[in-house]
Amino acid sequence: MKDSKQQASFMIWTGDSPPHVPVEELSTKLVINIIGNMSSTIHSFFPDLQVFPALGNHDYWPQDQLPVSTSEVYDAVADFWKPWLTDEAISTFRKGGFYTQLFESNVSSEPLRIISLNTNLYYSPNHVTVNITDPANQLAWLEGILEASSRKKEKVYVIGHVPVGYLPFARNTTAIREYYNERLVKIFRKYSSVIAGQFFGHTHRDSIMVLLDEEEKPVNSLFVAPAVTPVKNVWQMESNNPGVRLYQYDLLNYSLLDLWQFYLDLRDANKKNESNWKLEYILTKAYGIEDLKPESLYEMAKQLSVPHSTLFEQYYNNFIVSYNKTIVCEEGCKTCQICAIQYLDYSSYTDCINREEAWR
Ligand SMILES: [Zn+2]
Repeated sequence: MKDSKQQASFMIWTGDSPPHVPVEELSTKLVINIIGNMSSTIHSFFPDLQVFPALGNHDYWPQDQLPVSTSEVYDAVADFWKPWLTDEAISTFRKGGFYTQLFESNVSSEPLRIISLNTNLYYSPNHVTVNITDPANQLAWLEGILEASSRKKEKVYVIGHVPVGYLPFARNTTAIREYYNERLVKIFRKYSSVIAGQFFGHTHRDSIMVLLDEEEKPVNSLFVAPAVTPVKNVWQMESNNPGVRLYQYDLLNYSLLDLWQFYLDLRDANKKNESNWKLEYILTKAYGIEDLKPESLYEMAKQLSVPHSTLFEQYYNNFIVSYNKTIVCEEGCKTCQICAIQYLDYSSYTDCINREEAWR
């Protein structure tokens, strides 16, 4: 990352510190210790860097069951994150695992607002929130924050763990429950002029989404960053190499300019017993687009949809973080990927899936 000669202004950390092991192998105490360990490790490596964390579905015990009110985990994590967050953010976080905070830069005249969502409340395996229309009142809170931001002409980055939209590796499957997905998409469309970028994790893989409004106009750019850990065992297909990334943004209006994706070839690292992190790709160069604005990503998505697009092969190789160049994604696999990039709500996604013969 040093090679990029870029100065990092802050870090987005999208959660999931504990290992993804059976529930009985962990406990509330262990999960809290692991998150504490990770927080202090990050803090010791980057003592002066502002970090904006978000909770993941594994950052709780039992996993996925994040509650709608104060809990032992929220409380403990709030204490770990005190070096980075304001008192106000910490107090919101204790109640529901989410917060908002301004990032004051010394180069931009306007501050940037970060909204860290607890999307784990909407995650399908979370039984605690079944039948709750607005868990922890986070949706009402989110609308309130975005409404105020739009009045104050602020720019916002939304961060979270479990992404909105459809899973690119599965058919007709949203990561969060469909009901919440529809509501979030609606909110994000309404306030798209305020939101300058959205950043998620969870899938361990590298994917892009462009939110379209009702008239199919691109209005938001969303990114799912790959994880530093592989999602599957080495002998399983569709795992991933470890990855970290650097985003470049416009210092004046926070619009997204580019991203540098770095990765570790895990097989090579194991063979040589050393880790040699390399640049995997620079997004604008890889896809021949100007920047990461919604219009540019939409243009990219159109290119990828072309039958036998070699650019799509590149996209899929990036999706698994260059894990295995021999894996190809065609037909049904490509349908799911392409539809997930451009269509985040039920009706447009279903239309896309039904049209698949047209562009395959
Ligand atoms: Zn996760």
